Amino acid sequence: MVLPIENTRPESSNLSHPPTAVLPDDTRIPLPQQRADRNSGWAHPLRTPGALAFSSPVRSLYIHVPFCSHKCHYCDFYSLVDTQNRQESFTQRLIQELHRLAPAAQGAPLETIFVGGGTPSLLEVRHWEDLLRALEQSFDLSQIRAGKGEFTVECNPESVTAPLLQALRWGGVDRISMGAQSFDRSSLKTLERLHNPESVPRALDLARNAGIHRLSIDLIFGVPGATLEDWMRDLHAALALGTEHLSCYNLTYEPNTAMTARMKRGEFVPADEDLEIEMYERTRTVLEDAGLVRYEVSNYARPGSEARHNLVYWEQGQWLAAGPSASGHIGGWRWKNAPRLDDYLRDSPDGLPPAVDVEAPDPARLLRERMWTGLRLTRGIESAAITTEAQELFPGARERLFRLCEKLAADELLEVAPDRWRLTPGGMLQADGIAVLFMEAVEG
Ligand code: SF4
Repeated sequence: MVLPIENTRPESSNLSHPPTAVLPDDTRIPLPQQRADRNSGWAHPLRTPGALAFSSPVRSLYIHVPFCSHKCHYCDFYSLVDTQNRQESFTQRLIQELHRLAPAAQGAPLETIFVGGGTPSLLEVRHWEDLLRALEQSFDLSQIRAGKGEFTVECNPESVTAPLLQALRWGGVDRISMGAQSFDRSSLKTLERLHNPESVPRALDLARNAGIHRLSIDLIFGVPGATLEDWMRDLHAALALGTEHLSCYNLTYEPNTAMTARMKRGEFVPADEDLEIEMYERTRTVLEDAGLVRYEVSNYARPGSEARHNLVYWEQGQWLAAGPSASGHIGGWRWKNAPRLDDYLRDSPDGLPPAVDVEAPDPARLLRERMWTGLRLTRGIESAAITTEAQELFPGARERLFRLCEKLAADELLEVAPDRWRLTPGGMLQADGIAVLFMEAVEG
C-alpha cells in the first residue's frame, strides 16, 4: 500500500504521519517532480531504450493486489470491491508482468518481496499458487528460501485461512503484516473494519502453525471517539500477541475519502490534536519499555526485526513494482503503474502495463527524496554526503544547512552527530515539516 516516497507505508498515504499539530503550517510536501512522460500512458523505464544501462541488479519487488471485500471509508489506497470476478485475469496479467520485469534483477537473487494491497489475503489460494510458482520461475528466490531475505504478505484477519497460510509458506513467504488496526470493537466499527478483535490472535496462530514466525501488526491511533486509555489498551493487546514488529499510524483525513467528507459535513468530531500527540508520544515509551525500538516515525521492532523491504524505500534503494498503482524505482527512474484495474488489464504489446508519473533520474530530486525519507529513520541521514551533494547542486547549500542544523539542535529537534543528522523524539513529531526546512535550506 503507502507510495514509497510521499509516504511511510508503501503504496498508501493516509496513515503514515505523526500528528502535526505542533507544526506552524501544513507539512504535507508535494515533492517537486520531473515528469518525463506523464500522459503517454505507455511510458515505463523498462520500455525506454538505454534507461537502465547503468542500473545495478534490482533485489526488491513490490506487488499490489487491489481487491478488498469492503472499501473502508478512511482509505485512499488503490483498492476495489471486485464485483466482476477478475481475480483470474488479474493473476494472469500479473504473472505476465513479473516475467517482463525479471531481467532487471540481472540474475541476482531477490532479497525482499512485499505483497500489499488492497487485501492480498483475499486472493484465492489457487491464484496464490499460480503467482508463487511464477515468482519462482521468473526470479532467483534462493536467498529468501534460505532465510536470508524477507518475503512479506499483508493480510486482513478476517480473510486468513490455514490453507492460504500453508500455500504462502510453501511459496517462501516468511513474514506476515496483519492489518489489526484496533482491538476495540467501537474503533473497528468507526473505521469500518470488518473483523472483530478475536480474529487477530486467531489469524496470528494460523500463521505460526503454518511456519511463519516473523509477524507484524498494524495499528491506527487517533480514531474518533477513542480515548488515551483505549489506545493504551490497543497497544497492550498487540504486545500480548508477542509479535516482533508493530506499525502505529496516525489516522489522517485524505482528500477524496468518504470519511473526510463525513467529517466535513460534521457527522463526527475528529480526535483532538493534543490527544493525538499524547498518543504518539506514549506509544514510544510503552513499546520501548516492552523491547520494541522505534526505527522509523511510525515503526517499532525488536532489534534485528526491522522491515527490510520498507528500509529499501526509506534508504532510496531500488525495487521493481507490479500490479495496478504499484510504484517502482530503478536506476534513478520512478514510475507508477496505471492505477485502475481495467487499465492494468488492458492488452499490452510487451507485457508491461501502462505507467503514469514517470520521472527520469534527476540528482536534485534524488537528494530531496533522500532527506525526506532518511530523516524519518531514527538513524538519520549522512551529513557529510548530503552536504557535499547539496553544495555541488546548489551553491551556498553547505552554509545554509549548517545554519539550519544549528538552529534545530538549539531547539532540541535535531541531534548533530559527527557523521549523521538525527531527529530527536521531539523532532520526529515534526519530521515532515523539518524535511521541508532541509529542502528549503538546500535550494536557497
Ligand atoms: S482493507 Fe485496507 S486497503 Fe482495503 S479498503 Fe480497507 S484500508 Fe483500504
